[in-house]
Amino acid sequence: TASPLKKFNDGNEIPQLGYGVWQVENEVAEKVVEQALDAGFRHVDTAQIYGNEEGVGAALAHSSVSEDDVFVTTKVWNDQQEFEKAQASFEVSMKKLGLSKPLDLLLIHWAKPVQDTYLEAWKALINLQKQGKVRSIGVSNFPEEQLREIIAETGVTPAIHQIELHPYFNQHALREVHKELGILTEAWSPLGQGGDILNDPVVVEIAQAHEATPAQVVIAWHLALGNVVIPKSVTPERIKENFAALDIKLTDDEVEKISALTKNDGRIGPDPKDCD
Ligand code: NAD
Repeated sequence: TASPLKKFNDGNEIPQLGYGVWQVENEVAEKVVEQALDAGFRHVDTAQIYGNEEGVGAALAHSSVSEDDVFVTTKVWNDQQEFEKAQASFEVSMKKLGLSKPLDLLLIHWAKPVQDTYLEAWKALINLQKQGKVRSIGVSNFPEEQLREIIAETGVTPAIHQIELHPYFNQHALREVHKELGILTEAWSPLGQGGDILNDPVVVEIAQAHEATPAQVVIAWHLALGNVVIPKSVTPERIKENFAALDIKLTDDEVEKISALTKNDGRIGPDPKDCD
């Protein structure tokens, strides 16, 4: 099964299920991205700060899968948000990735409201897209206020917003804002980084009913909500298992039961509002 595609507000499309490579060593990235491509993934999520863009690029260069068939995302780090710096940072990423096509998606990694350069960064991404160097542009880790501000100031709405989102932190309110604004929601740490969620009795019971694993059920929950989802694994069996989650269809009742697991303090990472 190939991943379904989700349509951006700019007309481009993104495979809904992708493969994330945070905390994957550059030397390991080449091997595991090749495994992910072999398993069927056609979407890779990296970032300049992950230090593995070269490894990702090497996998794309060596794979029998054409780079034209793989959707590639990278991100501009926090200290590169000024207008010129953000564009220079993009060029560095492109050199490391070694793509012979425009980048599919560039994101601002964190808004960092205290630093107050996110609007400049957004204007830099708009400029790169205008030049045809990047097909689609979006953001990550923006509070609602800053998300609305960059749209109001530029008239350009991000194609996607990548945020922490898993059953213990389901981001209902922000997902509603995204629907209103026509922005796709992308879930980071979708498996809660492999923590307690995968042992939650509700998830385990639903997994048993589908003869699936808890990780597959959590991925299926994201897909049912309409999230773009980018689970990470460096274990070949789990990479295949996570891709096979595409075959699992949860009932509405099961989706609701998993959504109800959310907790007010369920965040694993920093709150984008306070993160400075
Ligand atoms: P994740 O929720 O994808 O969890 C990954 C961990 O879950 C693995 O290391 C492993 O321990 C476990 N796991 C994976 N598959 C499993 C399986 N089938 N069975 C059992 N355990 C399994 O965590 P993540 O890596 O934090 O998030 C995914 C991706 O999201 C990252 O790789 C990165 O691309 C992106 N991300 C972005 C940001 C951001 O600020 N924009 C922050 C964090 C992550």
